[in-house]
Amino acid sequence: MEDLKSGRGVQVVTPGEDHTFSLDVEALEALLLREDIKDRSVVVISVAGAFRKGKSFLLDFFLRYMQHKYNLGGSGEWMGAENEPLSGFSWRGGSERDTAGLLLWSQPFKATLDSGEKVVVYLMDTQGTFDSESTVRDNATIFALSTMLSSVQIYNLSQNIEEDDLQHLQLFTDYGRLAQESSGGKPFQRLQLLVRDWSFPYEHAYGAEGGRELLDKRLTVHEGQHHELQSLRKHIASCFEELACFLMPHPGLKVATNPEFNGKLSDISQDFKNSLRQFVPMLLAPENLILKRIGGQKLKSKDLWLYFKSYMNIFNG
Ligand code: GDP
Ligand code: MG
Repeated sequence: MEDLKSGRGVQVVTPGEDHTFSLDVEALEALLLREDIKDRSVVVISVAGAFRKGKSFLLDFFLRYMQHKYNLGGSGEWMGAENEPLSGFSWRGGSERDTAGLLLWSQPFKATLDSGEKVVVYLMDTQGTFDSESTVRDNATIFALSTMLSSVQIYNLSQNIEEDDLQHLQLFTDYGRLAQESSGGKPFQRLQLLVRDWSFPYEHAYGAEGGRELLDKRLTVHEGQHHELQSLRKHIASCFEELACFLMPHPGLKVATNPEFNGKLSDISQDFKNSLRQFVPMLLAPENLILKRIGGQKLKSKDLWLYFKSYMNIFNG
């Protein structure tokens, strides 16, 4: 059994000059075409959104769950020991940024669905910045690619769902739609909004129920609403088969501000850990895994490899 510590985030897509992107074909082949998994159907869970908002940090809890549940066959408590530093995809405080791009965890997780089907689960991290008009456009491709290649796209937001976030989403999904042949149905699968540092639990409670309420409120099309706001909302609804939202509490001051913080559970707020215990299995428990489909067809790992290559060609073309 592989130890998580021997795994790493493999950068498979890297932005280059003039809005082009390069694909690390060798790394991708080594991962997706492995003999024991290339014929398995895939589940691809991606996390995207602005830089420094806790995406990689969250993914490292996904890794703990995957290791516990699927590699060790454990049940019950999966979050780990109170004092263990959090490792996996690199996450950091401070304002330096990692290179932009798209990363896959080097260890694919094998899972068996309730139906008995044997599948493989990939976790995808994205790095980008949405801090100015130009970086939003540059990174739209990263967001579009990760949306096209995943079965669940987690859109990580800070504090609330703002009109800006919805506009970005429209831009990203437009890029994706242009690149994807139309097959009649909705082009993408599940969009999971995740609002971090939600601070109005008395208006909408932490978790999936409160998230549903907030999302309904934000996405409702009203009569009398400006035409642009209406069409933005219709566009988003028309792109995804499933839309959901989850409200996360603040993780505590040590997580947000202490440079010595190493990710250990004892430094993280109880509310945050309780929410993780709900959120993570909601996406990753065997009964909740969503197989990646394109045009209704399930994708095998070797097919995912082909789609990586063809989407890259489209965006670079
Ligand atoms: P990424 O750039 O989105 O991948 O962000 P990272 O995962 O690298 O985290 C950036 C910083 O945010 C780190 O210092 C984390 O300790 C901190 N962090 C992680 N999760 C949260 C959260 O939910 N809220 C706040 N305020 N900070 C967080
Ligand atoms: Mg990151």
